[in-house]
Amino acid sequence: MIVTRFAPSPTGRLHLGHAHSALLGHRRARDAGGRFLLRIEDIDGTRCRPEFVDGILEDLAWVGLDWDGEVRRQSQRMADYRRGLDRLETSGLLYPCFCTRTEIKAEIERSGAAPHGPDGPLYPGTCRALDEPERRARIAAGRPHALRLDMARARAAAGYLHWHDRRLGDRAAEPERFGDVVLGRKEMPASYHLAVTLDDALQGVTLVTRGEDLLASTDVHRLLQALLGLPTPAYEHHSLIVDAEGRRLAKRDAAPTLAALRQAGRSPADVRAMAGFPD
Ligand code: GLU
Repeated sequence: MIVTRFAPSPTGRLHLGHAHSALLGHRRARDAGGRFLLRIEDIDGTRCRPEFVDGILEDLAWVGLDWDGEVRRQSQRMADYRRGLDRLETSGLLYPCFCTRTEIKAEIERSGAAPHGPDGPLYPGTCRALDEPERRARIAAGRPHALRLDMARARAAAGYLHWHDRRLGDRAAEPERFGDVVLGRKEMPASYHLAVTLDDALQGVTLVTRGEDLLASTDVHRLLQALLGLPTPAYEHHSLIVDAEGRRLAKRDAAPTLAALRQAGRSPADVRAMAGFPD
């Protein structure tokens, strides 16, 4: 059975780009007699707000979407992520990183030519070089630390990896482009990459539909699936919808929200059509 999901972060109201993503996931599930799930990705306490969760549910229902089962809230699933981290830690693939953002920036500036990945400059590896007694001493002293994936080791453990995108075909995974990604943040035992990978597996998602702005991230998710012994779903990364002037309707842009369109008198059918799904 096909299981898809829509997984918004409650950092604002939904806009047309979100509607496109949600409608696509819903369509793929319903066309196949499958399940469409909703997950709220609210692990980032500094950016997510509870009132946006209600707004998301309201906007989705208004636009005509229904979902199956309970809404999964990432903020309530920390134990799942902790278990995933423990497993990777036991395999010796994680290391504690005590660096602050400022220290990382300074180190990158010092080194001159820091390689860039899809999310910006790569972590220069400062804490990877710490020896075990030093790590233990810092942890014992209560120094806050994130947990990073030792990408070179992880890559060597996993070997060649690929995944399939329904629109883009077979893709070789190149997670090394991200460097030593953070999997456990200083303030919580999770990060986007870890939570999304575990959730998709735990929820039995078989087809991940999402925007192609997350295409590169899938390489990291594929690696985590291999390391954690999780199944690999199929993917469909859709192109990002643009407005009449060709501007991306991405979340960072000032795209009209569904709430604003509704207030301006647009009907759900109008909005579905604007989001690329005319009835
Ligand atoms: N929560 C992510 C976002 O709103 C989407 C994650 C995903 O679909 O994998 O951008």
